[in-house]
Amino acid sequence: MIPLSVPLLKGNELKYVAECISSGWISSAGSFVEDFEKKIAKFVGSKYAVACMNGTTGLHISLLLAGVQESDYVIVPNLTFIASLNSIKYIGARPILIDINPDTWQMDLKLLENFFMNECYTKKSDNELALFDNLNHKRIKAIMPVHVLGNMCDMIKLQELCSKYHLDIIEDSTEALGSYFSGKHSGTFGKFGVFSFNGNKIISTGGGGMIVTNDEELAKRAKHITTQAKSNPDEYFHDEIGYNYRLVNVLAAIGVAQMEQLEGILVAKHKIDTFYREALKDVGDIEFQEVSKEVKPNNWLFTFKTKDKAALLEFLNEKLIQSRPFWVPMNQLPMFTKERYISEMDYSNKVYENCISIPCSSGITEEELEFVVHNIKKFFKS
Ligand SMILES: *Cc1c(COP(=O)(O)O)cnc(C)c1O
Repeated sequence: MIPLSVPLLKGNELKYVAECISSGWISSAGSFVEDFEKKIAKFVGSKYAVACMNGTTGLHISLLLAGVQESDYVIVPNLTFIASLNSIKYIGARPILIDINPDTWQMDLKLLENFFMNECYTKKSDNELALFDNLNHKRIKAIMPVHVLGNMCDMIKLQELCSKYHLDIIEDSTEALGSYFSGKHSGTFGKFGVFSFNGNKIISTGGGGMIVTNDEELAKRAKHITTQAKSNPDEYFHDEIGYNYRLVNVLAAIGVAQMEQLEGILVAKHKIDTFYREALKDVGDIEFQEVSKEVKPNNWLFTFKTKDKAALLEFLNEKLIQSRPFWVPMNQLPMFTKERYISEMDYSNKVYENCISIPCSSGITEEELEFVVHNIKKFFKS
């Protein structure tokens, strides 16, 4: 089988994990965690990075530390992976769903701006200006842009809107390690950015996450609260409700080895993307995700649109070419059908109905790429 997207573990992963095991430092103490944090902070250009158990827990803690409360709303795109919304619900807050741009598949900023202008008002709350929803007068505290497939929306425009309307930005950057907007790395545009090292992401630790921020106080709080809020090194004294969300040293060891290979992985991903776009450009009704000129994407997961999605998925999977549909939009899931969904054309659904992801592991061979393309052409008989 040609897998959809599997990690490349050809570097020092085994060596560093062996170091953990022979030294006995497999768990919560050990030097790889700090090393991994430093490597990520340096790579993305943020002052601080705090490792955590996975991307989902990173999003949860970021929302908590941004001061999102139970009665608040958080704005989020309607086409995302469930973890973005789950992290909002863990706090007890509620999502406001925004439809996507049909070409880039990122949150539609025009819809967002119209929503701010026509359906919200600002007023003072806790001595700060804040944004409120006309409908039920609840505070809208934060926005979570999701860099879907490693592409990005206009982050400069989003920053302008958020400063005008008093919203904190928490970037779901879990798919976007190695992606830039106007030369600035994803995850560094707001209060927090969160990365994931799940098995299928651009680098992997099996499971893992990282919170990045430029705020020293928030970084300290993130470390504290993800490690059970123990405030005294000698005593079991805990000064607030904490979480056991730490990343263990063995997994951080894999992360350090993966970071050593990231540049090479990004080059490989870019080649795969270029190859597929060239080879499939006139095949059937295939259309690609649009990437604006300000964005340098990480080309994480190759995905395209076709009206024959269902039949093509079946055809490719039968040929042992592992292919996957896109996420069911959030407004269609039973937990969220009653939430606000800001949309004119429901492009989320159109993209969902037509999108298919095909094999693009960084270690995929040229023969495998040719085999995938050959079969897609055969399907469309072109
Ligand atoms: C992978 C992913 C997450 C969650 O990351 P985990 O490390 O799996 O918890 C969140 N949001 C999006 C968009 C993702 O793709």
